[in-house]
Amino acid sequence: MQTLSIYNTLSRNKELFKPLKAPHVGMYVCGPTVYSDVHLGNCRTFISFDIIYRYLTHVGYKVRYVRNITDAGHLESDADTGEDKVSKKAKLQQLEPMEIVQKYTVDFHNVLQQFNCLPPSIEPTATGHIIEQQEMAKTIIENGWAYEVDGTIYFDVEKFAKQNNYTALTGRKIDELFENTRDLDGQDEKRGRLDFALWIKAKPEHLMQWPSKWGQGFPGWHIECSAMSTKYLGEQFDIHGGGMDLAPTHHTNEIAQNIAYCGKQPCNYWMHTNMLTVSGQKMSKSLGNSFLPHELFSGNHPLLQKGYSPMAVRFFMLQTHYRSTLDFSNEALQAAEKGFERLVEAYKTLQQLIAQNSSPENIAELEKQCYNAMNDDFNTSVLIAHLFDAARIINSANDKKTTLTTTDIELLKKIFNHFFFDVLGLKIETEKNRSSEALTKVMDYVLEMRKKAKEEKNFALSDNIRDSLINAGIQIKDGKEGTNWKI
Ligand code: AMP
Ligand code: ZN
Repeated sequence: MQTLSIYNTLSRNKELFKPLKAPHVGMYVCGPTVYSDVHLGNCRTFISFDIIYRYLTHVGYKVRYVRNITDAGHLESDADTGEDKVSKKAKLQQLEPMEIVQKYTVDFHNVLQQFNCLPPSIEPTATGHIIEQQEMAKTIIENGWAYEVDGTIYFDVEKFAKQNNYTALTGRKIDELFENTRDLDGQDEKRGRLDFALWIKAKPEHLMQWPSKWGQGFPGWHIECSAMSTKYLGEQFDIHGGGMDLAPTHHTNEIAQNIAYCGKQPCNYWMHTNMLTVSGQKMSKSLGNSFLPHELFSGNHPLLQKGYSPMAVRFFMLQTHYRSTLDFSNEALQAAEKGFERLVEAYKTLQQLIAQNSSPENIAELEKQCYNAMNDDFNTSVLIAHLFDAARIINSANDKKTTLTTTDIELLKKIFNHFFFDVLGLKIETEKNRSSEALTKVMDYVLEMRKKAKEEKNFALSDNIRDSLINAGIQIKDGKEGTNWKI
């Protein structure tokens, strides 16, 4: 078994990966709130944990990977205010909330499949675990860490913070938190301004609500992850992950809930991925700077110079370590696309190399370096640099500038199979991907013709083009920025 070193957000240290109960590893990752399309930033986080899942499995651990689906209880604001995100969308679209949940869960799965992410071992939903969440809230009240006010249950953060390090995960000072949170006014029913809800009383018009011993209500956002991780991985498991934006509130509150529930920290390692940014700003739906994966694949977005294949995008993400920010740009994607192609070509060349009797190369050392990179907090960026070294050696051998023995060639094949395919989850793209690039070019041309037809007031032709596209399964939408299309 390899000895791993991992950065633990909680201790802010790289520590030996000792506490893993080998060969079993429990890993919980906060999944999406399924009320809208996942954007590329979300994908970065899920791709990062896919790598961790793949590598742990590769080196021989049996991983139970739990990634939840938030389908109820995530309100618009982290301060337990605003509408439930899923319900709000359901009202807007005049749909049953579970129709929204189904639509975006399927979309999420499709997107991650395109990025070649493996499915988790268990994918539990908040709505499927209402009883578990109620039971946990009940125990937290019994243990004296939460209180009820008129059908809503609040976690008593001030009381908790007196006996525990509430902000351990972020290292922030609790006094600063108090200063940055608004004073309670006479309207507030909670006792302390940092208190958060475990269970929320539902108004009659609230769409998703359940009976409880405190009346009709719905769970708070944080309790679902404490309840589901405990149910499937036990009171203490190995790794808990998510994007770093979840650390200050969602994960801080999860730790408090777990300690209040059973007196234990939920996990040995907290792992947080850094953000995908656009011109230095976090990619986020609310900032309006987010790309949807299908826009990126088709190139159908004003900020994109062209479409990029899912593997080029995956490669682009993996060239940066998961704890560093990654800034999106067309230039960086085009460079990643070239780099990815270079490795694919080297792999193809490798299959045809002719072995020689002796070789000056040390391929065994190269393999060791690949493991060292991944053992050092899953450093995919350094791993990829070693794969480029492998490609250089392959190309030199092909150009007869160096020689490789049969053993070397077999070991290089093993390095590619293990690291390029299994661990990094990259794959050689098929014709289908190339044809989607061709389709983008054809669509640009067709939409340009339709625009011209409209300008010339030839509406028969422009309508004909639109109808023909619909017949071919392509939907188009005119907007301020031009015309968008999707299959
Ligand atoms: P959400 O559905 O917004 O709760 O997000 C799902 C996951 O994506 C969470 O783990 C977030 O931390 C993560 N996430 C959101 N925005 C970004 C971003 N720009 N870059 C990386 N991860 C993100
Ligand atoms: Zn969570």
